[in-house]
Amino acid sequence: SNCSRRSVWTEEQFRHTMPKRKQYSHKGTHGKGLAAGGSAEMPGSIAMTASAALRSGAGLITAATVRSAIPTVASQCVEATYLALEETDGLLTCDRPISFDHYDAVAMGMGMGRHVEGRRFIQEALEKATTPLIIDADGLYHVKALLESLKRRWAPVILTPHLGEMAMLAGITVSELRQRPFAYAKTFAENYGVHLVLKGPFTIITSPDGCQTVTTVGNAGLAKGGSGDVLSGVILAMMMQDQSIMEALGNACFAHGKAADMLVSESHSMYDLIASDLLHEMVNVYRTCI
Ligand code: AMP
Ligand code: MG
Repeated sequence: SNCSRRSVWTEEQFRHTMPKRKQYSHKGTHGKGLAAGGSAEMPGSIAMTASAALRSGAGLITAATVRSAIPTVASQCVEATYLALEETDGLLTCDRPISFDHYDAVAMGMGMGRHVEGRRFIQEALEKATTPLIIDADGLYHVKALLESLKRRWAPVILTPHLGEMAMLAGITVSELRQRPFAYAKTFAENYGVHLVLKGPFTIITSPDGCQTVTTVGNAGLAKGGSGDVLSGVILAMMMQDQSIMEALGNACFAHGKAADMLVSESHSMYDLIASDLLHEMVNVYRTCI
């Protein structure tokens, strides 16, 4: 690969690479995105992903989730449109093809559960969708069983594991991963041809050709349920706008971590910070850092 050095993705890069909002744009200019996931027991995940995408510049967001959760989720994110997925025991099933290619980018997996029907849903997307796919959370457990489909796919895939999910994907222990996170991330991204966002106290972003960049923003206030769902939404939005994939991922991880840092320095503590606070803080990141 042609990138021997690693870099930190800084505020300066964020400022220089964030696309300027075009004066004569309309909602279509800023892309159509799909966030697919959720279940009866984890309805909030998809609401946070959808809201985070809308708070990060996405033009139009559709949230696909189990039919029974839609009234709840829709009341939490009124700006999205909704696609009802059929369900069994509160878990989404894969009985009707979704036109993934109708969207500019798709984020999936958050809160969906680890049942076999869910795996078919991820498999359909990996094998049929030609649009960029962001796969997170329970979706990553399905990917572990679909590594061959992952290898065969040519369109972009972005996997966003935390350390536990990465260890599971790579078939190693978390303590092994902690000793050589850059090396394991690079090997996996190259072997499977994916973009990898390895999340933790700092976040390592790796391209399929092995280039790596790191974000060092964020704090332990993020160590709480829902933080990752928000990040997936920010990534979705950045992928729908005019940036290279590495820029989109660097900018998304920067904006997410920076929002947490601004909250903790201005108005919150690491104790009380919750993921939905990030949604309201994105404003300050975009107002002051661009
Ligand atoms: P998840 O584990 O999927 O909910 O994702 C957690 C998110 O919060 C990721 O973006 C992590 O990078 C971030 N995060 C979690 N713990 C910390 C920490 N101690 N310091 C900084 N960022 C963190
Ligand atoms: Mg997560």
